[in-house]
Amino acid sequence: MTASSTLLVKGGHVVTASDVFEADVLVRDEKIVAVGKDQGWSADQILDATGRLVLPGGVDAHTHLEEPMNFVTMTADNFASGTTAAAFGGTTTVIDFAKRFPDSGLYESFMRRREVAEDNCLIDYSFHAMTTHTGLIDGGLDDMRRLAAEGVTSFKFFMAYPGVMMVDDATILSAMRVAAELGLMIMVHAENGAIVADATERLVQRGRTEEHAHTLAHPHLAEEEAAYRAIALAELAGCPLFIVHVSSRHAARVIGKARAQGRLVWGETCPQYLVAAYEDYADKGYEAAKYICAPPIRERANQDDLWQALSTDVLSTVGTDHASFCIGDPPDLPPQKSSGRGYFPKLPLGVPGIEDRLKVVYECGVKRGRLSISRFVDVMSTRPAKLFGLYPKKGTLAVGSDADIVVWDPDAQQTISAKTHRMRVDYNIYEGMVVSGVPAYVVSRGEVIVDGERLLGSMGRGRYLKRGEVNTA
Ligand code: MN
Ligand code: MN
Repeated sequence: MTASSTLLVKGGHVVTASDVFEADVLVRDEKIVAVGKDQGWSADQILDATGRLVLPGGVDAHTHLEEPMNFVTMTADNFASGTTAAAFGGTTTVIDFAKRFPDSGLYESFMRRREVAEDNCLIDYSFHAMTTHTGLIDGGLDDMRRLAAEGVTSFKFFMAYPGVMMVDDATILSAMRVAAELGLMIMVHAENGAIVADATERLVQRGRTEEHAHTLAHPHLAEEEAAYRAIALAELAGCPLFIVHVSSRHAARVIGKARAQGRLVWGETCPQYLVAAYEDYADKGYEAAKYICAPPIRERANQDDLWQALSTDVLSTVGTDHASFCIGDPPDLPPQKSSGRGYFPKLPLGVPGIEDRLKVVYECGVKRGRLSISRFVDVMSTRPAKLFGLYPKKGTLAVGSDADIVVWDPDAQQTISAKTHRMRVDYNIYEGMVVSGVPAYVVSRGEVIVDGERLLGSMGRGRYLKRGEVNTA
């Protein structure tokens, strides 16, 4: 990009979390400098948005790229393939995780993680710090303060997987007290670890180890109980709480009740919980492994309530929890889903979706009347940007914001398929879904990085984002 270049997005309907209006968007260098009726603006480059929607770039606050899973296998998507797939789907910011390495503390693990991502991302990125079962030992609380100073303002804890990821309530509570003091967000994977471990053990003893039995090992009570416990701990400490990947109507109800009482809690759901269901894979044998994640993709009876929760701000964001593992054996990686063939406790957990988030939720949410277009923008971009300290740099189309813009063609059709997607994984749980509504252009900090099917941006242009405090507005 030259020293001072201008871009005009002309003739579209601008959508924000609160409004839809006809406007042109003028960009100079990396920032939006005007939103309104073209005042005879000249620009080096013009994008025609006639008949199209102009959206703030998507913010996916829950991805797992190039992540060692239990430090055994590695996710199929690395930073390059994952951020490229994200961009083709209209996402211009990802917040991934800096997981604590077994041999270093939280702060040092974050520094190492930054090095892995550096020069390998197409779009802007950031990291939540994430502990394992080692929790906050060896200076973890001090590391939280050091990380906050580096713009890492959210910290994730697991309430499940004893001996691998789970921490006890006392650890979470101590972190919450630091979070309350510094304006940081505490995130939890809310499942009761003892319930999941017990259910798994009982299934294995009865020989019920087939792939889909994973779902039976994660009863909704485990999620509901942990969600409530996390809310109670956060209330005691007075810190903001973000419950990731809400999969059940029961957990959503607990969050809704707490929010109605004015508590500082927000819930995320994921496209796979809104659109896919246990009934889709319960009889699929090994193929069920494609759908296996935690919490599990539950019975279809949950879907209406999850959509309702999303539309009424009981649930506030949609992230993907993108964690891709091939169903076949890729030549350049250790065995992935196949390592748990016939024995679900060994299945790597996760589904891909970083590329499909906007398309699937637009098709199944906006087009079917479950979400307004402004609500779509809110849950896909504005709210995650606010909650994770990126707003208004990211998450909106306003003067002074980064020019992260999606020109969305509501009429263009596409069939989702692993044959054509950019994710580096050999299946897609939305295989065959016809969506109408796809990105025509994707702009990141003023640069057109995707034009239809063409990739224009160069790898490594994505920048690390230091984040600020939680914005609860
Ligand atoms: Mn999780
Ligand atoms: Mn996750």
